[in-house]
Amino acid sequence: MARYKLVVGKRINSATLVADARHSWLDALSSAGALAGLIAVAAGQPWGDPVAGLAITVVICHVGYQVTADVMRRLGDAVDPSVITTAESAAGSVPGVLHAHARARWTGRTLRVEIEGWVDPGLPARDADAIGRQVTDAIAQQLPQAGSLTWASRAGRADHYPAIPRTQPRHGPSE
Ligand SMILES: [Zn+2]
Repeated sequence: MARYKLVVGKRINSATLVADARHSWLDALSSAGALAGLIAVAAGQPWGDPVAGLAITVVICHVGYQVTADVMRRLGDAVDPSVITTAESAAGSVPGVLHAHARARWTGRTLRVEIEGWVDPGLPARDADAIGRQVTDAIAQQLPQAGSLTWASRAGRADHYPAIPRTQPRHGPSE
């Protein structure tokens, strides 16, 4: 069971499940250690109890450290800045996109990328949508790890500043 959770946890990229798997493994080892200690004591070996206790303490400290380190790394898992620049340059390479901004964030196991693309203000909405589909296709090719891609078209350069605040501004205020 511990092994299964670990494999599945790693496959679906879940730090929680991996932590849980390590916990199951810890439980199994602790039980085995305690059992071995009790058997030694029952067999008349007085060293069985402290030895088993010490072994369990070492295992708890080691696994506790590993689980904590993994979860902390995951909680601080900021999006790689190259994701933003890759998405913006892929969007900018699509004809009709005058300018593009991208934002990315993790929600659980899903990397979500939002792209704002500035297009010709005279463009019909269906053409802006078609450009948006080309943009999301282009980004999906460059960033296969992105589980969700959202396109929003903006009219021209006049409305350059995004409705949603950017967390990682790429531009100076004059651009
Ligand atoms: Zn910009």
